[in-house]
Amino acid sequence: MGFTELHLHLEGTVDRETVRMLDPLATREEVDRVWGFSDFGGFLDCFKFTARRLRGPADYALVTRRMIESLAKQGISYAEVTIGAGVVQWLGYDFDSVWRAIREAQREVQKTIPVEVWWNLDAIRQLGADHVMEIARLTAKYVGDGVVSFGVGGDEVRGRASEFRAAYQYARDAGLRLTAHAGETDGPESVRSALDIGAERIGHGIRAVEDADLLRRLREERIPLEVCITSNVRTGAVPSLAAHPVRQLVDAGVIVTLNTDDPGMFGCDLAGEFRIAAEVFGLSAAELAQIRRNAEEFRFGHR
Ligand SMILES: [Zn+2]
Repeated sequence: MGFTELHLHLEGTVDRETVRMLDPLATREEVDRVWGFSDFGGFLDCFKFTARRLRGPADYALVTRRMIESLAKQGISYAEVTIGAGVVQWLGYDFDSVWRAIREAQREVQKTIPVEVWWNLDAIRQLGADHVMEIARLTAKYVGDGVVSFGVGGDEVRGRASEFRAAYQYARDAGLRLTAHAGETDGPESVRSALDIGAERIGHGIRAVEDADLLRRLREERIPLEVCITSNVRTGAVPSLAAHPVRQLVDAGVIVTLNTDDPGMFGCDLAGEFRIAAEVFGLSAAELAQIRRNAEEFRFGHR
């Protein structure tokens, strides 16, 4: 049984080599500069740089193929992958054409590479409640066609989860599972707000460590955190690797999973995240095995 990856963005799997396939005019120097970010703003610039080079369905198909090949190389046998449906729309593409290209690429590559892949579509928090509802309605159309969940990402500070209650209710009624990025750049209140609208897993959630009541709630409601250590260091969500709270979260009895988030941009892989957890934070073999079981237990996709 390979690794289970629950928090991974399709756009974030684009590495320097892939982006130069998407845009042969991008020079190595330019790409190195964009990929050399050290804070959240720089990371968002890298993400936007990449998104602008996804110039329609064929490009999405290319990155899907390369992503599944990379998952297999990392020893991952199951992945839930987020597509920025809000981003696709923001770029002005017809989502359905992009989706059909992604699914076709997935079917093609899975003939030879047996990685199980399910999809999460997400909306952009700071674009507001109407946008999030629109993406929830869009996501609902793909239930039964490989999409298992709906979520929000983007700027936590400018888009409180409580604004998206109706969208989350709509998605749940449509048969979707619910996730939300929260507690990454904003504090415990953001995580609480995501739980209040029904999020069943929290993307990151690391700042829950600041609030004992919230830790208790996560434990009691059995809400897993999708922890992405290297991501948090590269975006500056934590001031240093040593300051990452993964050890405290495990010790607090919260259900932790380990994930890569945007491996093409952060230069990480899933086995490496487990190595860091062991070598830097002293997680035991038994704790790491439990983290792997957590991901298997709390996955949304089932064949
Ligand atoms: Zn993420």
